Amino acid sequence: MAKEHSPWDAKQKDVLQDVGRGWHRLSTFLTHVGRPTPHSDGVFVNHSVARGSTVLFPSISEMNADGEKAYQHQLVYGAMGNPVQHELEKVLTALEEGLHTQVVSSGLAACTVALLAFLGSGDHLLLPDSVYGPTRRFAMRFLTRFGVETSFYPPMAEEDQIRALIQPNTRVIFAESPGSHTFEVQDIPMLARVAQTHGARLLLDNTWGIGAFKPFDHGVDVSIQALTKYPSGHADVVIGAIIVSREDDWKRLRSAAIEMGECAGADDCWLTLRGLRTMAVRLEQQSRSALSLARWLKERPEVARVRHPALPDCPGHHFWKRDFIGASGLFGVELKPEFSASMMERMLDSFHLFGIGASWGSFESLVLPTTGGVTRTHPDGFEGPAFRVSVGLEDVQDLKEDFVHAFRKLME
Ligand SMILES: *Cc1c(COP(=O)(O)O)cnc(C)c1O
Repeated sequence: MAKEHSPWDAKQKDVLQDVGRGWHRLSTFLTHVGRPTPHSDGVFVNHSVARGSTVLFPSISEMNADGEKAYQHQLVYGAMGNPVQHELEKVLTALEEGLHTQVVSSGLAACTVALLAFLGSGDHLLLPDSVYGPTRRFAMRFLTRFGVETSFYPPMAEEDQIRALIQPNTRVIFAESPGSHTFEVQDIPMLARVAQTHGARLLLDNTWGIGAFKPFDHGVDVSIQALTKYPSGHADVVIGAIIVSREDDWKRLRSAAIEMGECAGADDCWLTLRGLRTMAVRLEQQSRSALSLARWLKERPEVARVRHPALPDCPGHHFWKRDFIGASGLFGVELKPEFSASMMERMLDSFHLFGIGASWGSFESLVLPTTGGVTRTHPDGFEGPAFRVSVGLEDVQDLKEDFVHAFRKLME
């Protein structure tokens, strides 16, 4: 994809710092990238779904000569990718401005396959304490069994603190910015500096930052995306992707994915590609509604604090301002400590428009409590009960009215 279609023009950065202002260029890019060649006659606007397992070859010798094809997004066998998967991979590579992409079966698989590709027995991993709960469990249960040791670092740790945690066998520093449920925005360039000095890889779960954070400009080695969220956007697909910027990292990642049999179904890839076409307009509205709702919630007497990266009292807000060109529609709310967890539960149960359930980034609004093992047990600075809000495409006034109604239940 030509550079001029990129949503991240350096010249634009200053004017794009406010939420939502970056999405115009992103929408042009997502409308045109990864489509069938438009210059021939009789071509549909979109790719078709091609389902398949067996790929036929003209001869045994040509089949045997195909070792390299699997690394070049070419067809070898269904488990090593299908045509729509490869188109989706091209779009994600361009969107994140990387070199290659591996699409996998879920966002969590994107986290685990990336970790397994870059870690081995006897290695040490650094995970932020704010990491997505299932990634944390994978490290603690699965990686431990295979002889990988994990240390947790505070997501707002400074350079000295990170350096002090580095061991000679530290191979991966993992980051997630902002953190799941607690929304600390991390100092990625600093982590990249430390990783580089010690010959470790910096892996970033960039799901929240899709379109708004350009990982490879800030020193990230491997970007991870739960495409289940905004890219597919309609709560009907579970899928993930890993994007790398170096050829040697691609070899490692691609062989790990092949060896583990990781791929995604053609229909899910197609739905994700379709979702990406409208991601910029959805993000534009959802980020604007979320910021409006977050600011409104901040003024409510029931609310102690709102954790939205674009608001000044969010931990790491200055990093968001420095490094991001937009914000998504997901943020956290802490109630005042006088409210109990069960009072909050009654409140969350009473919404008409906000659903209760896992995931986020789809067209419909959701809430989810921050307790219950979804993150670390005692996040820093939380005094009252807390929950997470994923703002959908509903009218923001309707969403505020739903909150007015729910706050009434909190007081009952
Ligand atoms: C949802 C999520 C994942 C996992 O994605 P799934 O497709 O649900 O497996 C990983 N990381 C983050 C930050 C997420 O929010």
